[in-house]
Amino acid sequence: PLSVSDTIEAQRICVCVRKRPLNSKELNKKEIDVVSVTGNGTLLVHEPKQKVDLTKYLDNQVFHFDYSFDESSTNDLVYRFTAKPLVQTVFDGGMATCFAYGQTGSGKTHTMGGDFTGRSQNSSKGIYALAAQDVFTLLKQKRYASLDLCPYVTFFEIYNSKVFDLLNKKAKLRVLEDEKQQVQVVGLQEMYVSCAEDVIKMIEMGSACRTSGQTSANANSSRSHAILQVVLRRKNKLHGKFSLVDLAGNERGTDVSSNDRQTLVETAEINRSLLALKECIRSLGMDSHHIPFRMSKLTQVLRDSFIGENSRTCMIAMVSPGMASCDYTLNTLRYADRVK
Ligand code: ADP
Ligand code: MG
Repeated sequence: PLSVSDTIEAQRICVCVRKRPLNSKELNKKEIDVVSVTGNGTLLVHEPKQKVDLTKYLDNQVFHFDYSFDESSTNDLVYRFTAKPLVQTVFDGGMATCFAYGQTGSGKTHTMGGDFTGRSQNSSKGIYALAAQDVFTLLKQKRYASLDLCPYVTFFEIYNSKVFDLLNKKAKLRVLEDEKQQVQVVGLQEMYVSCAEDVIKMIEMGSACRTSGQTSANANSSRSHAILQVVLRRKNKLHGKFSLVDLAGNERGTDVSSNDRQTLVETAEINRSLLALKECIRSLGMDSHHIPFRMSKLTQVLRDSFIGENSRTCMIAMVSPGMASCDYTLNTLRYADRVK
């Protein structure tokens, strides 16, 4: 078995893939599973045979990542190899980010937020809740107790380049950049939390806020990025920050079978921010001094996570196994492949 500390912790960028199981709807339709996880970071996509171009289906497409998780993997396992090592980074005074990337329905929210319907709470705690538990475990440890670290939580959403506070009735917030290029989300609620349960309450509250509301701002949560941040402060100064991001669905506009202007604008905006994100993560890996964070609101608010010696990031690319999703799956995998 792999040891987490030997591998992931030494890397600034970790890219993984997680395959979800076929759901009952897909099983009923006798959907074929075209994705195989073949072990240590490797994943195969068997392209459907109905493609006219023969060269396309003769080859399986093979992808290699730091880790690949098959359909039997639990949130716990995924967490252990992805976000868990980053909690340590934050305690050591660093900036950490963890992204869930993929098409709508591929399992981003399942992985990050888990299931808050109350049906199966413990078994399906997501990365948000698991990270929160570890934060409080470490806070109690001797070596950190003396630092007097105070934990806070923010939870907000970016929809069409606008920021909404999920812990404050979706208040619309402005993003400002000062002369030192420091980016600030003005008025963002930063809630003090005294235990993991406090964080879970915030997540529940914010998640409910995220999906509610029929008006323009987010009838559809799959079109927005949701960002949960755990901030550690020491004597009111920033010590470390962990940003956990449930990204908007990466499906392209062409399939949205709608000429609706609103949808086209949303899609263009999502594509732009995902492209910007890729560029920013890549420059983190290359130790580049030019980080194109101004390309989108998403990367702008995450700016301080892309700079500095002690910044680490992990991307989890989610894929649906069905043949009908094959093109999206390949898109997702190619994107993840280029992040590194
Ligand atoms: P996304 O947020 O990417 O749109 P969701 O997380 O909402 O997708 O997942 C879509 C559906 O699939 C949900 O009903 C979710 O519970 C289920 N699902 C996703 N991933 C898994 C998994 N690994 N195991 C079991 N069910 C999953
Ligand atoms: Mg979702």
